[in-house]
Amino acid sequence: MNIESRKRLIETIAAALIDHADELTELDSAIGDGDHGHNMKRGMAAVLAELDTIAAMPSGDALKAAGKQLVFNVGGASGPLYGTFLIGLGKSLPAEPTYDELTNSFGEAVDAVKARGKAEAGQKTMLDVLVPVLEAMRKRAEADVIARVAADARDATIPMQAERGRASFLGERSIGHVDPGARSSELMIAAAAAILDDLS
Ligand code: ADP
Ligand code: MG
Repeated sequence: MNIESRKRLIETIAAALIDHADELTELDSAIGDGDHGHNMKRGMAAVLAELDTIAAMPSGDALKAAGKQLVFNVGGASGPLYGTFLIGLGKSLPAEPTYDELTNSFGEAVDAVKARGKAEAGQKTMLDVLVPVLEAMRKRAEADVIARVAADARDATIPMQAERGRASFLGERSIGHVDPGARSSELMIAAAAAILDDLS
């Protein structure tokens, strides 16, 4: 992947989140404190501010640098968690990863999020999208399938009761809503899958 491709990937993911910031805030207003759209927008702005520097790095280092921007610039639970995800993804990623190498690094990133958030799938968080996507990647799913899996996984958070994060304070009242972090994960993954598919 060259500098231009990395730029396009970063810009597309950032745009997907920025364009849906109001929706993410609405979802977080229902079961949280209504800042998820703002947090994601702030994180993406911090990454875009370093776009040229980050895109010039090898993919693994670029992911780690983007992750650090999120950890340092975003308040709330999601900044450090997404930062941890990107840093975990970047750690073991070779310069030109095969699909299976990308899957392995994605698995390490998911494990890092689980450890950082002391969470597992089934607790109505971003992990409820990340884990099914990892399982689909292990079956070498193509981009459109990955996007479908992520969308279905996002919907599957609706009947769940939150057991982590602010939404858990609502107990049963968290049932019946999409988890905001599940939606932002879906947006990121669908955007990334489409671009990576286009590049390959
Ligand atoms: P905050 O909850 O601090 O206001 P955000 O609103 O930006 O932060 O992010 C909320 C999202 O973060 C939730 O919808 C959920 O997906 C995710 N989240 C919260 N706590 C955890 C956790 N311990 N593990 C994984 N994801 C979490
Ligand atoms: Mg919030």
